[in-house]
Amino acid sequence: MSAQQPNKIPIQQIDLDATKHRIHPRFVTGFYQNIRVISMYAFLALFLILPWLRYNDRQAIWFDVPSQHYYIFGMTFLTQDFYFIAAFALIAAFTLFMVTVYAGRVWCGYACPQTIWTHLYQYVEKWVIGDRNKRIKFDKQPMSVSKAFKRFLVYFIWFVFSMITATTFVSYVSGTDALYQSWQMIGFIPFPDWSTWIWVSVFIFAFSTYVNAGYMREQMCVQICPYGRFQSVMFDKDTLIVSYDYERGEPRGARKKGTNPDDLGDCIECQMCVQVCPTGIDIRDGLQVACIQCAACVDACNEVMDKVGYPRGLIRYTTERQLVEKEKSQVFSLRFFAYLAVIVILCGGLVYALTDRVPLEIDIRRDRNQLSSLNTQGMIENSYIVKLTNKTQDEHTYTITLAPKEGLSLHLTFNDVPLDPGESFDMSVSIYGDPKVVDEGRTPITLNVVSEGGKYKVSKQNVFTTQGQ
Ligand code: SF4
Ligand code: SF4
Repeated sequence: MSAQQPNKIPIQQIDLDATKHRIHPRFVTGFYQNIRVISMYAFLALFLILPWLRYNDRQAIWFDVPSQHYYIFGMTFLTQDFYFIAAFALIAAFTLFMVTVYAGRVWCGYACPQTIWTHLYQYVEKWVIGDRNKRIKFDKQPMSVSKAFKRFLVYFIWFVFSMITATTFVSYVSGTDALYQSWQMIGFIPFPDWSTWIWVSVFIFAFSTYVNAGYMREQMCVQICPYGRFQSVMFDKDTLIVSYDYERGEPRGARKKGTNPDDLGDCIECQMCVQVCPTGIDIRDGLQVACIQCAACVDACNEVMDKVGYPRGLIRYTTERQLVEKEKSQVFSLRFFAYLAVIVILCGGLVYALTDRVPLEIDIRRDRNQLSSLNTQGMIENSYIVKLTNKTQDEHTYTITLAPKEGLSLHLTFNDVPLDPGESFDMSVSIYGDPKVVDEGRTPITLNVVSEGGKYKVSKQNVFTTQGQ
């Protein structure tokens, strides 16, 4: 980043098993770590709690893929409503870009699931084995009963966390009822009575969680995650990044007896910033792709600076413009406002589309077996399959009518169609045409559907044809 800084960015070896070069970060407390822990565990709690929320006696957030109904707090979406999800994904992507331009990899350090689960699994190791030095020593010890027991305990807790993660993830799709209320007894042991796809999904998610958080850890961020790779091109001189103040810190060195502190910079070469780093890098080597901007090194170094009586901020959040060019940063750049404008437009469009949306769906298909025929009353009969979907969270009764057209009349099996919340119903509908009145060929028709009380109304067009008799 700076001409004064060493051009010594370590090239990480590609080895997706992080246990071969196991990093045992020292757990540190401090201003940024407090924010980080609160943010990470708030996201974790949200993930675990959301599937248990109920709205109108139904799981509030439920992506029921088998029935292609997606419920989000009282709104029902079908597969054809997927543009809402696309719009939401675009808003999330642009928000991430905007935040990255302003605050760098804040997502990676404070909210990314990979970071959260890795932190959790490392915390289990700390709880069972001890802090950094104990864990390093433990790795080097020969196998013993005590070591085997502690290893087993760590792996068992990881397994439990992986299963909780996997079942929570799957419950967003299967529903909590199907997942937690289906049990069968095998001998005296209660066993989940799940369908094959639930078993397969739980296994895949549990396995992925275990491998990712237990073994791959920082290698996922360094070697695989595309966001970590491309976001550095989004940085500009005004992006906040964790940086070591090379000018102030160098020449670094321990304060040994006989050393004149005036000959040294403020870095006392204590290595605390390296020991706390979850990805095992040395921030003093400059900006690196492995740096997830978690600011653990900032808190660790500030603690050291406090102890030795130097000002805080040898490692700090700063911008290239401030650190290198010694100029004031433009906090909000043009790019930031461009992203903000796109987000505001997308949010406006999404809110409008959601509020303007009628939670009732009608689909009309021609009955391909009976295009057009002459019935016993001498009328031309066209048959259709009408599919009605109640996309509200309440029961409604719907009435179907034909927009008036001379010579055409509608014939239904049921006049009123009661539908439960989220229910779809296919019904056969016939339209009779008087051959003396109806035009030859294709005549446009419109079917109207209205809920009791007239709150929801939709229309759909199709054609009546005299051909194919
Ligand atoms: S924690 Fe601070 S003082 Fe210690 S080695 Fe790192 S930069 Fe130097
Ligand atoms: S260098 Fe500092 S900010 Fe970057 S990952 Fe390591 S501890 Fe976190």
